[in-house]
Amino acid sequence: MLLKNAFIYIDGSFKSSDLYIINETEWIIGEDLSSIKCNQIIDLSKKYIVPGLVDVHVHLREPGFEYKETILTGSESAKAGGFTSICAMPNVTPSPDDIDNIRLIQDIVDKDACINVYQYSCITEGRLGQNLVDVSKLKDFVIGFSDDGNPVSSDLIMKKMIEQSAMHDVLIAAHCEDFSYEDPRMSEYMNIKRDIELLKNTDTSCRYHVCHVSSKKSIELIRQAKKDGISVTCETAPHYLVFTKEDVISENFKMNPPLGDKEDKEALIQAVCDGTIDIIATDHAPHTYEDKLAGAMGVIGMETSFSSMYTYLVKTGIIKLEKLIELMSVNPSCIFRIPKYSDFTVLDLDAENTVKSDGFLSLGRNTPFEGMTLNGRVIKTICKGKIVWEYTQ
Ligand SMILES: [Zn+2]
Repeated sequence: MLLKNAFIYIDGSFKSSDLYIINETEWIIGEDLSSIKCNQIIDLSKKYIVPGLVDVHVHLREPGFEYKETILTGSESAKAGGFTSICAMPNVTPSPDDIDNIRLIQDIVDKDACINVYQYSCITEGRLGQNLVDVSKLKDFVIGFSDDGNPVSSDLIMKKMIEQSAMHDVLIAAHCEDFSYEDPRMSEYMNIKRDIELLKNTDTSCRYHVCHVSSKKSIELIRQAKKDGISVTCETAPHYLVFTKEDVISENFKMNPPLGDKEDKEALIQAVCDGTIDIIATDHAPHTYEDKLAGAMGVIGMETSFSSMYTYLVKTGIIKLEKLIELMSVNPSCIFRIPKYSDFTVLDLDAENTVKSDGFLSLGRNTPFEGMTLNGRVIKTICKGKIVWEYTQ
């Protein structure tokens, strides 16, 4: 496949070039590749090609909650959002905390996923916070370790997991919440603070990543930890960069951690600009209408992630498109060590789109972006050298 005349993201900037995809893992980029004989030539004048987008934090709900989402529908939602790789959180049933359960999920991924889907192992058995999983046995089959949805409350167990992370070179994705504090901002802050203290006192380096950072206080803590040379990375989600608690008009604005105030949103945007936030991840959390009304926390995000961030961060002049691609592809690939394939996302930045969840490929409809007009659109998703999704009117 030869993609001609696009602006292609190469080493941090865009150049007008051609892209020739040879196979699943090999490609060539050049100013003019017209001399290559190829029977599939696509003209992409005025369009942008970026490395495939990566979402390190999604909930696919299968096995156990297939009425909310499945690996098939979740990966379809991902491809429509331009994602070629996603990392699935372990709050499913049975829990991916031993080799049999991880294999069971991997079999569904191999059968149903239309893009690259990687799974997390739990940190503790059943995500119950009591017994650490066998990290050495599971590490080769998962992208990282997380009890997402639950924090690891025990200091001793988190200390052991940090030691395991250093020993086996595995990533911890920490859902930070300290149940002894009612204020969600204090709760997030105190649990991150605990982990940073543990990281300081463990004399080996580990791979520690904070999920869905939502508040100013937490960001200040992480910024200082990075300055102090502590091995910590973090993500935030699009909804925290666009909305505040003043915007909550329905259940579709409720997630954990909750939306903060203006001060939190501004601090998060500042942290995106100065590099304190490494990654934008959606925390895609599909629920049925009935489950949302009954108080289920979380919002979906993969099909609005790129255009919402393009509209609110790039169109407004806060960051450049190159920086957004760092946050949504380059940094997550690097930090999570996503395997390299011929994965690309093609963007039409001139397009405008009104969000209508009825048309989503996700089974979830719980988006806070419903009815909003967003700029920029994913028009093709190329995974392992093949077009897996194309925008059609
Ligand atoms: Zn979480």
